[in-house]
Amino acid sequence: MNNAKDIQPILDRALAGMRLTADDCTALYESDDFVRTGLAADEIRKRHHPEDVVTYIIDRNINYTNVCNVVCTFCAFYRRPGAKDTYVLSMDEVCRKIDETIELGGTGVLMQGGLHPDFGIEWYEELLSTLHARYPNFQLHCFSPPEIHNIHLISKLDYETILARLKAAGLNSLPGGGGEILDDEVRKRVSTKCTTDEWLDVMRAAHRVGLRSTATLMSGIGDQIKHRVRHLARLRSLQDETNGFTAFINWTFQRENTALGRRIKTEPTGIDYLKTLSIARLFLDNFVNFQSSWLTQGLKLGQVALRFGANDMGSVMIEENVVSAAGAHNTANEAELRRQITDAGFRPQQRDILYRHVNREQTPEENNTNEMREMIEVTAN
Ligand code: SF4
Repeated sequence: MNNAKDIQPILDRALAGMRLTADDCTALYESDDFVRTGLAADEIRKRHHPEDVVTYIIDRNINYTNVCNVVCTFCAFYRRPGAKDTYVLSMDEVCRKIDETIELGGTGVLMQGGLHPDFGIEWYEELLSTLHARYPNFQLHCFSPPEIHNIHLISKLDYETILARLKAAGLNSLPGGGGEILDDEVRKRVSTKCTTDEWLDVMRAAHRVGLRSTATLMSGIGDQIKHRVRHLARLRSLQDETNGFTAFINWTFQRENTALGRRIKTEPTGIDYLKTLSIARLFLDNFVNFQSSWLTQGLKLGQVALRFGANDMGSVMIEENVVSAAGAHNTANEAELRRQITDAGFRPQQRDILYRHVNREQTPEENNTNEMREMIEVTAN
């Protein structure tokens, strides 16, 4: 372990606007002075977001199918084709979920699913074009790189053709799911899904056809510091090339009901989570937005993350099925999420999928005040 003195020159370079090297990144990981790293990350966060605004989105995760033809040992969600408890949502079910989301002030949906062996490009085009026709202003943030790679295998089309066709059908942006650890030394041990290069190539193609996307990192699946450093370096390099990533989101492996969880008996600590977040804020100098993963870390650590580099509280998450199947059971409605942000010393602000501010007619606080006023009037009468 390095002491605080060792990492201070690195932090000073980051604060002076200099780019950190992979060796710097390793040294920060090896240091036990995570608080000092967090303070530097907080300072960089303030420079990007000087108004102390913390954003959040109202959306839901719709998982259109749990049928999946690959195996990820960290996943508790998927079912093999032909298993008894598989499902594919009907268009009516998807629309009902979107209607509920809109009623709650939602602006979009994050839709992803397993890698279905029978779904070619036409299935996805039909889904998107039907939803886009019915909800023209509702944002469709759908299909992570493994799903796009699966379409490529089934329909024999290159990534750019697939993504241009999906964009024409109504796709707005891509979630960064399936990134986990972008290093094949780790990926090949825990999953048979797309490789590191394939994940990056899908994102490169998405950015080339004009779609934005998020980038993710899931730690705790047998990764070492060197793998996380390579992961961050690969993301930074692609962002230099395309500037297509809107945000970085890291979380930790949730082990309940997973094959990997039965083998790995420990989960990354809260400190380990905060370290990765703050190091990423310093190392990924070409990313603007960093999410707090309160869904996996809990609301209290989610608040702490706002002082370790995060400027976004993620989603109200009206529905989530994947990490909750693996043991993440944290929930919050919009009013609760706004209260958590306010209590942590920030101003809550709703955003859309592209991180643009959304201003609804009434915030939950104004609604509550109006309800209170009505109650007082009724009582007075
Ligand atoms: S993580 Fe995704 S690709 Fe992997 S098994 Fe689960 S549903 Fe399939």
